Formats: sequence, C-alpha cells, structure tokens
Amino acid sequence: MPFPIILSSPSGGGKTTIAHRLLEKRRDVGYSVSCTTRPPREGEKDGRDYHFRSLEDFRRGQRAGEFAESAEVHGHLYGTLRSEVAKVLSSGKHVIMDIDVQGAKQFAAAFPDSVLIFILPPSADILVDRLKARGTEDAESLIRRFRSAKEELKAIDFYQYVVVNDRIDSAVAEIDAIIDAEHSRRSRIESLEPLIVELEDGIQRAIDLYSKRK
Ligand code: 5GP
Repeated sequence: MPFPIILSSPSGGGKTTIAHRLLEKRRDVGYSVSCTTRPPREGEKDGRDYHFRSLEDFRRGQRAGEFAESAEVHGHLYGTLRSEVAKVLSSGKHVIMDIDVQGAKQFAAAFPDSVLIFILPPSADILVDRLKARGTEDAESLIRRFRSAKEELKAIDFYQYVVVNDRIDSAVAEIDAIIDAEHSRRSRIESLEPLIVELEDGIQRAIDLYSKRK
C-alpha cells in the first residue's frame, strides 16, 4: 500500500532539492503540488511548483474542506489539497510532501500511516548561506525565515527520522533507504495474517507427520 512521506526542515535545509532528486530516482514516488498565496518566484511555474492562489480563493478552498492540512508560513498561506494526495496514492505511488511542521502535525493526524522525516542542515552557517544564496529575499523576510527556522527545530521530536543534509547525494540515499525499509514495516504488510496462519498450519502438519514417525 502506498503511503505519504512528509519532508520538513527549517528553510535552507534543502528539502525541496531532495524531494526533486527522489522523484527522479524512484518511479514509485509522486509529488503533491501544494497551494499557496505566496507570489511565484522567478522560474516557478503554476501547477508544477505550486498552485498559486489568491487569498480569497485559498480561503474558499479551506471553507470547502479542500485541504488535508493548511498553515500560515512566513506570512503566507500554504496547504495540501486532498485531491493531490488522492491522485498520487490512487496511482499506486507514495506521495511525497514538502510541508512545514504545523502542516505535518495536521496531516499525520489525518493520515497516521505517514512517514515523517526531518531534514537538518549540517550547520547554522550553511543554513544562513543557503538562504542568502537564494537571492530572492530582502533582509526582513530573511530574518523572518531565520526566526521560523529556530522555531521549527523545536518540532523535531514529532518526527520518526532525521536526515542531516551535508551532501545531497547521501541525504537522498538515506531517504531512499528509509522508504525501502518502510515497505517492510509490519503494519504495512498486506495479508500478513493469512500468511502467518498458513505457515502455522503447515508447521503443525509437519509436527504431526514427524510425531507419527517417532
Ligand atoms: P517556500 O515559500 O520557500 O516554497 O516554502 C516555505 C515553507 O512552506 C517551507 O517550509 C515549505 O515546506 C512550506 N510549505 C510548502 N508547501 C506547504 C504546504 O502545502 N503546507 C504546509 N503546511 N507548508 C508548506
């Protein structure tokens, strides 16, 4: 059964790049394109990076129950559409989401089989450099992101896995391995009970047979 995979990190953790690399690497993973009221950055495409919505339209969607979760992040609204999640899961793929910690908590409450992964930058200097390198933020919004990065770190206990994004290749490989390992989680294995019953019956038959030969 496909499951949701939530990636969260403080801004500058590198989760968006990781999500894209995973999508290139694994055919069993699809992406849920979020909605936001944030204006598009240069190079961003509506429907690919985000569904860009007006505040009014976003609010309407909230009232209509279109979102599996929604939250205000850095002064803008972001939300995961139920329809996006359903589309990916029903195609048989795991759905990967790049969402903030408030959204992760809401989403995991609605989808308890979610895998929760927190991505950490290897150092504060690197986090600051990554945020500055974007070159799209003025000082005020950078400070806002630094503050919320500090705040987001506090939510780490909520996550099942932590990946330090020192080298992108190894961070992607680690998440790749987490997804593989999650396939073997007992609660995810379909038809486990009949298989166990069949094994027990077979073993019992062997016990009976060998007992007669004694
Ligand atoms: P950015 O504006 O830099 O693309 O994203 C800012 C923050 O919003 C990131 O922490 C990102 O994970 C978060 N975010 C993106 N999409 C969603 C979403 O659908 N829901 C929530 N709760 N957060 C999101």
